[in-house]
Amino acid sequence: MTETPPRASRAQTPNRVRGTQDIFGEEERRFSHVLSTFDRVRRLYCFNRVEVPVFEATEVFARSIGETTDVVSKEMYTFPDRGGDSLTLRPEFTAGIARAYLGNGWQQHAPMKLATSGAVFRYERPQKGRFRQFHQIDAEVIGAAEPAADVELLVMADQLLSELGIRGVTLQLNTLGDAETRNVWRAALVAHFEARAGELSEDSRARLAKNPLRILDSKDSRDRPAADSAPDIDAYLTPEARAFFDAVTAGLDAAGVRWERNARLVRGLDYYRHTAFEFVTDRLGAQGTVLAGGRYDGLIGSLGGPETPGVGWAAGVERLAMLVGEVAEQKIDAVVVPVGHSAELRAPGIVAELRRAGLVVDSPYKGNLKRRLARADDLGATLAIIVGDDEIGRNEYQVKLLQEGTQHTVSAERYRQALAAIDKVEPILARNMLVSIKAGFVRHLIEIGG
Ligand code: ATP
Ligand code: MG
Repeated sequence: MTETPPRASRAQTPNRVRGTQDIFGEEERRFSHVLSTFDRVRRLYCFNRVEVPVFEATEVFARSIGETTDVVSKEMYTFPDRGGDSLTLRPEFTAGIARAYLGNGWQQHAPMKLATSGAVFRYERPQKGRFRQFHQIDAEVIGAAEPAADVELLVMADQLLSELGIRGVTLQLNTLGDAETRNVWRAALVAHFEARAGELSEDSRARLAKNPLRILDSKDSRDRPAADSAPDIDAYLTPEARAFFDAVTAGLDAAGVRWERNARLVRGLDYYRHTAFEFVTDRLGAQGTVLAGGRYDGLIGSLGGPETPGVGWAAGVERLAMLVGEVAEQKIDAVVVPVGHSAELRAPGIVAELRRAGLVVDSPYKGNLKRRLARADDLGATLAIIVGDDEIGRNEYQVKLLQEGTQHTVSAERYRQALAAIDKVEPILARNMLVSIKAGFVRHLIEIGG
């Protein structure tokens, strides 16, 4: 007999921490689909995968992302470890990758095309599409000053979105010019905003001294009239900066990637140069930016390294997953159903053999023939392979085609031929491999030598 412990002594079930998620089922399938598609696409573009730590010394982010940004000033998870060092959970990937590039002497491999993905952490107000632990995919090119790197990253982002079947996303593109352009433009902006300081929000008045470019993309409606009438960068572009931007847009046009100029799209920090971009949608409410990036030629210098150009982007996996269509559950090729004691003993061998041949196979742990066949139906399996003690005696298998509802007696010899034939079925496409393996197996099992 079990006794119910008195309520007071029962342990409290811990809650999920605010802003974190448990991802499972249909949601998990869409999430994994985003990651596997990214992994396939980044290989097409010859980007090498890199793994960087989940936490770094706080200064890695403080120095490279910049003290004045929201991320560093308000959103980082920073804590002293037991040894008293200040550590921070990564709020993004670029800083850690830049730190790794310098620390490991990867300059010798420049230009490096790197890709990664994983959890990132920001202390923000959780809402739809905004979490405290979320996930990013990230692509960077370090050590290339050429506009071709910007183009390649943008074309890759575009291909990723289209392979994910995500429609209605617009690439908004801007240039922040080179250092010279930016200084003159910045002075013109400060003059413009100072003359209208009275109209600005408190936040933007504070930005005027620290980070005036950020006023341009302010979401506060009080700032919009001054921001919208501010001078565009175009009049200040040096011929070099103009040529760089033209090369990027020409590359996009050549690759057939549609873009839109957004002269109000900025990156606040001084080390951002030339290209700035966002892929935006109106399908996610306020959280409409799915992928964002730009060129950061001064970042590695800010970490104490030699001046090294870089360009990259990051996208929120959750936001992409919200935009992809339904992802079907994995198809199961066969369910093995043993009936009787000796069959039960044989089953693990049969299952292992099929799986080693590349078939997706399940085998319920218990239940009678009827229950296990019902389970095979629920799983949407193509075949049920029924092995009873009788079949073992006669050296044969009962194969049921679950969709057709037909059952066939298959000799052990033919079963073996079918398994052997799996190797010979030429995969049409890597992505369809399981489909063609299965088709070959079934064809040999049932149709050939019938
Ligand atoms: P936002 O303006 O939405 O706060 P951000 O400028 O802070 O975005 P980036 O630092 O450019 O975002 O990060 C790249 C991408 O990561 C964003 O485009 C978005 O898809 C995703 N992202 C950013 N913050 C979150 C979050 N808290 N939860 C989920 N996804 C996020
Ligand atoms: Mg943010």
